[in-house]
Amino acid sequence: MQTIIKNAYDWAAGFLGQGQPATFIPELTKQDPNQLGVAITTCDGASCQVGDCHVKFTIQSISKLFLLAVALEDSGFDYVFSRMGMEPSGDPFNSIYRLETERAPANPMINAGAIAVSGCIRGDTAEQRAKRVLALAAKCMSVARVERSAEVFRCEVETGHRNRALAHMMQGNGVLDGNVNEHLETYYHACSMLVDCTMLSRFGAVLANGGRDLNSGHQLVERETARLLRTLMASCGLYNRAGEFAWRVGVPAKSGSGGGIMAAVPGRMGIGTFSPLLDEQGNSVCGQKALEYLSRKLELPIY
Ligand code: GLN
Repeated sequence: MQTIIKNAYDWAAGFLGQGQPATFIPELTKQDPNQLGVAITTCDGASCQVGDCHVKFTIQSISKLFLLAVALEDSGFDYVFSRMGMEPSGDPFNSIYRLETERAPANPMINAGAIAVSGCIRGDTAEQRAKRVLALAAKCMSVARVERSAEVFRCEVETGHRNRALAHMMQGNGVLDGNVNEHLETYYHACSMLVDCTMLSRFGAVLANGGRDLNSGHQLVERETARLLRTLMASCGLYNRAGEFAWRVGVPAKSGSGGGIMAAVPGRMGIGTFSPLLDEQGNSVCGQKALEYLSRKLELPIY
């Protein structure tokens, strides 16, 4: 496994320099574009890694999975999915267009959906809601606590004009109640969580393991929730790159604009990759390459 993961790293490293930093979050453009890390955790808890695996970066959209898991726990499936759909949108992750023609966001993996999801989490303040999301994230990634980047949080609150517009549109459309600022802050707290690719690979392994802790077997997220998350990852996890990714890699995965991708291979393993430069759809270029290599070598496609 160590040889295969090293070969995946070497092949993916050939694509360093391709792609763009996440310019829509100015703080993220400060990241070193040449970083690359790949980590695997198998469902029996063994792990191996190569490259920049201990470099911390913000989880960004991968946190949409934790937000959804907590919202489902608090508000239930029927309520959450009365406020959004579960179809791929075919639009960019921060698109506002569909909220004009349809009332609700297409799915919980795009920004509009995740902000609506944040509105389904119980708590009196954004910090209270975020704490619950962070607690679940810590359990799923086997760390004592998850730190956050105050700089990225502040930057998103100050510059996230599109997200603010999405939230107000949704309030106008009747799919987001309460205080818009609070919901945006909850979402940004989740996005600002600091992770490394080993942590992402552990989360992937938990989802691959039906939501159970890899050591104790304790159910961290319900089995049905884990299946829903994997399903949404497969259809919407890489935005409108999800189709080609399903062909090239063929496993449920979720990307984040911080440069991370987390993949869950049912019954087998979780994979975490990190490399900051993104393709046009907002997914790490080298991360996708590393996953493509691993998928071929380890025969991972589920289709
Ligand atoms: N926090 C980012 C945003 O709202 C998340 C987007 C992403 O990771 N694609 O713009």
